[in-house]
Amino acid sequence: MTKKKVLLLPGDGIGPEITAEVRKVMAWFNSTGRTSFEITEDLIGGISYDTHGTPLTDAALKRAQESDAVLMASVGGVKWDVLPFKDRPERGLLALRKGLGVFANLRPALVFDVLANASTLKPEVVQGLDIMIVRELLGGVYFGEPRGIETLPDGQRRGVNTQVYTTSEIQRVARVAFELARKRKNKLCSVEKANVMESGVLWREEVTKLHAAEYKDVELVHMYADNCAMQLVRNPKQFDVIVSDNLFGDLLSDLASMLPGSLGMLPSASLGLRDASGRQAGFYEPIHGSAPDIAGKGIANPLAMILSYGMMLRYSFDMAANADLIEKAVQNVLRAGVRTGDIVEKGQTPVSTAVMGDAVVKELTSLTI
Ligand code: NAD
Repeated sequence: MTKKKVLLLPGDGIGPEITAEVRKVMAWFNSTGRTSFEITEDLIGGISYDTHGTPLTDAALKRAQESDAVLMASVGGVKWDVLPFKDRPERGLLALRKGLGVFANLRPALVFDVLANASTLKPEVVQGLDIMIVRELLGGVYFGEPRGIETLPDGQRRGVNTQVYTTSEIQRVARVAFELARKRKNKLCSVEKANVMESGVLWREEVTKLHAAEYKDVELVHMYADNCAMQLVRNPKQFDVIVSDNLFGDLLSDLASMLPGSLGMLPSASLGLRDASGRQAGFYEPIHGSAPDIAGKGIANPLAMILSYGMMLRYSFDMAANADLIEKAVQNVLRAGVRTGDIVEKGQTPVSTAVMGDAVVKELTSLTI
């Protein structure tokens, strides 16, 4: 049997530091025979620009396309903010997502019980929270044409972006969300602004049609995006899976990401279409950036990166038991009071990135002997 290929992209800033810790976790899974992945690495972002003059080489993109799953840490940094847009680290990331065809971005907002106090909301509002936001990633207003800034005959300037969706774009992301709901609490909330936008009317109609044709067993509700933002803060536990377009999904998933309280804890997955052979592109990354303010200090929280690997095991390799094992190990380590600076509580001494990674690996061993 050929080995499954996993590509690791450490990127910039704290990326290499948190990658060092996920490497330990990946090595543990390989050495205990739970996985047998062939793991390779490549450059993306600022480091790729410095080395090759582009934030993503064709060779790195090809390697990503030929892998069964890709795990990236983070890109970006002040050093590269002066570059033209096409050379910026973030462009490498956009090109990679596009080149992999990953159109559904999955962002869980999961509150670990021991961290309920870390949220800015009251603990009783977030305790036990477990929601999943599915954001459409390759369409909508961020890509729609026409776009640009033009000067009008009267000398004013006009900025234009276009919100545009087709039936198939809506259906493919809604299908991912319905399937996820089936594996969870069987509830889906579809979000748009059908009250004021034609693209929202189409979105609602297509989701409703798909529901009637293929997913009648899933409980479906529709909600306007502004109301959804309010409900996420008022009573987030009413939701199971939320699906939305690129723009509203961007805002709502950022809002939801603050419910658990720390950026350093939040993983994400982006998935493409499943082809006839069952193969589906899978791209995994923590939701945080490269944290230039703490890069190189060895104090970053590696848990979002480690949990992203857990999502990879769950969604790209159908290894739910291994993914559960990672989440359990993280939960136990936190319960034991092992905390990096971003999630430390009164009376606890913050640990380094490496100590946190080692603690997770040690806990994985304890859980399995
Ligand atoms: P950021 O997520 O990098 O940092 C925001 C704050 O959270 C900082 O105070 C940082 O120290 C902290 N933080 C983030 N991750 C942490 C972790 N794992 N452990 C502990 N603390 C953590 O966002 P930013 O400051 O807006 O952006 C910095 C750079 O990252 C920019 O160049 C931006 O373009 C880039 N960025 C990249 C991605 C990505 O790679 N997907 C996402 C967002 C931002």
